[in-house]
Amino acid sequence: MISAVIPAYNEEDNIFPAAEAISAALSGEDYEIIFVDDGSADATWERISDASGKFGARGIRFSRNFGKEPAIRAGLEESAGDAVVVIDCDLQHPPEVIPRMISEWRNGAEAVIGKKSARGRESKGYGFLAHVFNSMMSRATGFDMSGASDFMLLDRKVVGAILEYGERGSFFRALAQFVGFRTAEVRYEVAARKNGKGTWTLKKLIKYAVSNLASFTTAPLLAGLFFGGICLLAGAVLLILRAAGIPLGSFSAAVSVMIIISGLVLICLGISGYYLSKIYDEIKHRPRYHIAAKVNERKDNNER
Ligand code: UDP
Ligand code: MG
Repeated sequence: MISAVIPAYNEEDNIFPAAEAISAALSGEDYEIIFVDDGSADATWERISDASGKFGARGIRFSRNFGKEPAIRAGLEESAGDAVVVIDCDLQHPPEVIPRMISEWRNGAEAVIGKKSARGRESKGYGFLAHVFNSMMSRATGFDMSGASDFMLLDRKVVGAILEYGERGSFFRALAQFVGFRTAEVRYEVAARKNGKGTWTLKKLIKYAVSNLASFTTAPLLAGLFFGGICLLAGAVLLILRAAGIPLGSFSAAVSVMIIISGLVLICLGISGYYLSKIYDEIKHRPRYHIAAKVNERKDNNER
């Protein structure tokens, strides 16, 4: 069986089109469709309940908005398929690509990663920032994350491996490669959002980028060493200039050096503080989400 996991946040107008298109892409297979309503404020849950009657879809409703990562995780935990397709609800990930993913999987790939070959209608600025973030992520993880997205098909083995990771601040698309296994890529063109608006703001994107980078690299913690090195070098140069009798403008030069150094120290403190806050978030070990309701719940839930 193939499971499709679809995180949905305020997607009332996209539930039916998504259920229809994904069912069509999976026709001929034994499949299940699982919508995870991430605490939507609109009629998303009502539409999911309707879709459960019309398409046999299954649904999980969160008690509030927990974010796409917990929504994907809940869907993976709920899924029973031998392979699981994770796909957005707004049809920006074209369901027509799913059969290609399935054939890669049948040919032996254990993780089939959807890669964006064209970035849809994104602005140049957004494309550039995404490129910078993906390059940094590639360096941090050691995998090629260019054009990466959450659109992928994973074998049950890979799903099991991902679910073993206990971290709260998880980053699904990187974890899917980080766990290893035989991967294949399928290129797709990002479509325009079917209905409604995306929920990303610049502030949310920056927070997302920083937090996901921090969960895969501690390199910024070495910034202190780097800045310390620069300061030592600058100090040495100043001393040499002084010894050579070159005037430094005395007091103002000293003050500016002090200011630069305190700035760098504060930056390093800030970075350490950020990692400390991540550690604090992790050790609280809070539940990732709470489920308020389910429709078409799997009967053999306790077996796995
Ligand atoms: N989503 C979610 N929880 C959130 C935000 C988004 O489950 O808090 C879902 C959303 O319904 C969609 C997918 O994640 O299915 C991608 O979201 P969106 O289209 O806003 O982002 P983008 O396409 O820009 O990545
Ligand atoms: Mg989208």
